[in-house]
Amino acid sequence: LSERLQGIFSGLRSKGRLTEEDINAAMREIRLALLEADVNFKVVKVFVARTKERCLSSEVLDSLTPAQNVVKIVLDELTELLGRTDSRLVLGSRIPNVIMLVGLQGSGKTTAAAKLAYRLKQENHSPLLIAGDVYRPAAADQLQTLGDEIGVRVYRGDGRDPVAIAKEGVQDAIDNLRDVVIIDTAGRLHVDEDMMAEAAAIKEAVKPDQILMVVDAMTGQDVVNVVEAFADSVDFDGVIMSKMDGDARGGGALSIREVTGKPIKFISSGEKPDSLEVFHPDRMAKRILGMGDVVSLIENAVRVQQAEEEELEAERMMRGNITLDDFVMMNAQMRKMGGVQKLVSALPGGDKALASGQVDEGALDAMEVIINSMTKEERAKPELLNGSRRARIAKGAGVSVTAVNQMMKKFNETKKMVKQATAGMDAQMGRGKKG
Ligand code: GDP
Ligand code: MG
Repeated sequence: LSERLQGIFSGLRSKGRLTEEDINAAMREIRLALLEADVNFKVVKVFVARTKERCLSSEVLDSLTPAQNVVKIVLDELTELLGRTDSRLVLGSRIPNVIMLVGLQGSGKTTAAAKLAYRLKQENHSPLLIAGDVYRPAAADQLQTLGDEIGVRVYRGDGRDPVAIAKEGVQDAIDNLRDVVIIDTAGRLHVDEDMMAEAAAIKEAVKPDQILMVVDAMTGQDVVNVVEAFADSVDFDGVIMSKMDGDARGGGALSIREVTGKPIKFISSGEKPDSLEVFHPDRMAKRILGMGDVVSLIENAVRVQQAEEEELEAERMMRGNITLDDFVMMNAQMRKMGGVQKLVSALPGGDKALASGQVDEGALDAMEVIINSMTKEERAKPELLNGSRRARIAKGAGVSVTAVNQMMKKFNETKKMVKQATAGMDAQMGRGKKG
């Protein structure tokens, strides 16, 4: 998905201004890319409509960096889709706090249970794991192994009745001073009434403070049905997206929030106990867009735009066609480059100029004041500056007309110098004199 989207963005980026056609084409591509990433088609429709509307606003189309704005909007909408705010796991005040995990078989419940316990332990809680999957013979052993690895007690009970095990487990937590219990439950390969009935029975027996649904990030288009089925029967408070380390295309995460309104709380990405991360919609959106690259694309967009402008400017100036604004800019740059004195002394004949006192930083300030009193047009076309204009400018700047005349003389000298210097450079580089 990232690659596709980046392709789309660089397509946009290679253009200067965008037309409505360009946006339409880009949106068609984004739509396809999202569908290919298994985002639910209804969600895609809503997403594309929202994004397109914002992209078509005149602020975007007429801005200097439309492609950059499109990237921002897509990122923004994607973040919105994933849930605007972080949905941290907030434990209630009840002790022990009861967290129950539900989900299809193989979705990653047992793994996530251990990771969550590890995380809580890191946060100075003392969790207890309850082995509520009594169907797969190795399920309790799997949880026990993980519990041993992270040093968390596992309650297994008689290994027969999940409702009883859950209840006894909560009591075990009280007896052993544990403040959080995490109940691992059984899943089926498909949404199934027995599974839902059992989850509902456990829920009824222990009244969990939180039910988290574990969803395999690789589920694909079906994810919406699965999540909706759980929402309708046992209901849940949030989602743990597992297996985000695989080549999951991320479409499920995009669909879940939009379709169910349930927040994604964690993403699980790996086999190690510490690979459960709090879900951040903005980070996820950036991840989906391959943000590292999008950022550099944005930077490039700005740079290209600037480079183009600078090139045009440079070309104009190379022809000795400088304006009074250029003059101010050149002065400012000279100052930035470590002072006029140093710069001038580095030029051929510069020492002589310094000695004769022709360069003086104070004079530069005075010049700027004068130029600031000119209109935009006058600055761009200095030849407009006749007597009456000069008188007006002198008055505005609070200087004499002579000072304005002197400044213009300096400007014309500089203009000539630039012309000569660039002609010399052209000759040196074998380009000959041009325009
Ligand atoms: P359960 O049936 O829902 O309890 O699922 P499990 O926790 O047993 O996980 C099923 C398989 O997926 C196991 O082989 C896990 O090692 C693997 N698994 C679970 N979570 C992750 C994950 O975040 N990343 C990867 N790569 N594998 C995972
Ligand atoms: Mg399991």
